[in-house]
Amino acid sequence: MTIAGSDSGGGAGIQADMRTFALLGLHACVAVTAVTVQNTLGVTGIAPIPPETVAAQMRSVVPDIGVGAVKTGMLASAPIIEAIADTCDELDIGGGRGVALVVDPVCASMHGDPLLADDALDTLVRRMIPLADVVTPNLDEVRLITGIDVVDAATQRDAARAVRDLGARWALVKGGHLRSSELSPDLLFDGDQFISLDLPRVDTPHDHGAGDTLAAALCGALAHGYEVPDAVDFAKAWVTKGLQSAYPLGAGHGPVNPLW
Ligand code: PLP
Repeated sequence: MTIAGSDSGGGAGIQADMRTFALLGLHACVAVTAVTVQNTLGVTGIAPIPPETVAAQMRSVVPDIGVGAVKTGMLASAPIIEAIADTCDELDIGGGRGVALVVDPVCASMHGDPLLADDALDTLVRRMIPLADVVTPNLDEVRLITGIDVVDAATQRDAARAVRDLGARWALVKGGHLRSSELSPDLLFDGDQFISLDLPRVDTPHDHGAGDTLAAALCGALAHGYEVPDAVDFAKAWVTKGLQSAYPLGAGHGPVNPLW
């Protein structure tokens, strides 16, 4: 199941998640948090869904269809986050209670358009990160969440420790925006061991939806029964291939293309 925003351009958000789930042979259930008005140039409008409707989508689907794993993406506002966290508690999602939860702490689009209200970051940290089996911040998100500016391997380890200390079982600090590196160095940490995942950086302007696609592939692999390190390994290879076959679209940034 994905709990996320809709992207009218079809590149990111629930559209990216559903594409990846389907390619992994999974049925995708959806709780929409917001409808975004966006194309390849950016986001020009956001209509949040009422929090009770977000919770109702979860309550409708989980007992009837069942879920193998859940991921969250764009959560839009503090009241929506509160409703999702309460409903995760009610339905035993995350928190090590059975259904694995991947939290992608989406704050803004690649164009810098906000996808989370300014006053909602604290709520995201307080309510969603402690529920997460894996939380997947990029470098901008990790700076907002922990205050740590990741510039090298040592600060990336500090950031992973800080994210874990906020209550996540695993922290995946994505280094894809570490422009100093020829690799895309991601770091996974469970409080005990650091696992480095280094694949070559794919230099393409067509990387819209890369973060969503990685989190969706990770969620899908967990639904298939992979352990977290194997699921992260799989997801990173998946998004790297998606970036290698990304295609131009519109006048801006095209989407990653996991159809490989
Ligand atoms: N739009 C929606 C609905 C999203 O969920 C996301 C990412 O989570 C984005 C846009 C941002 O994608 P990108 O950072 O590739 O612009």
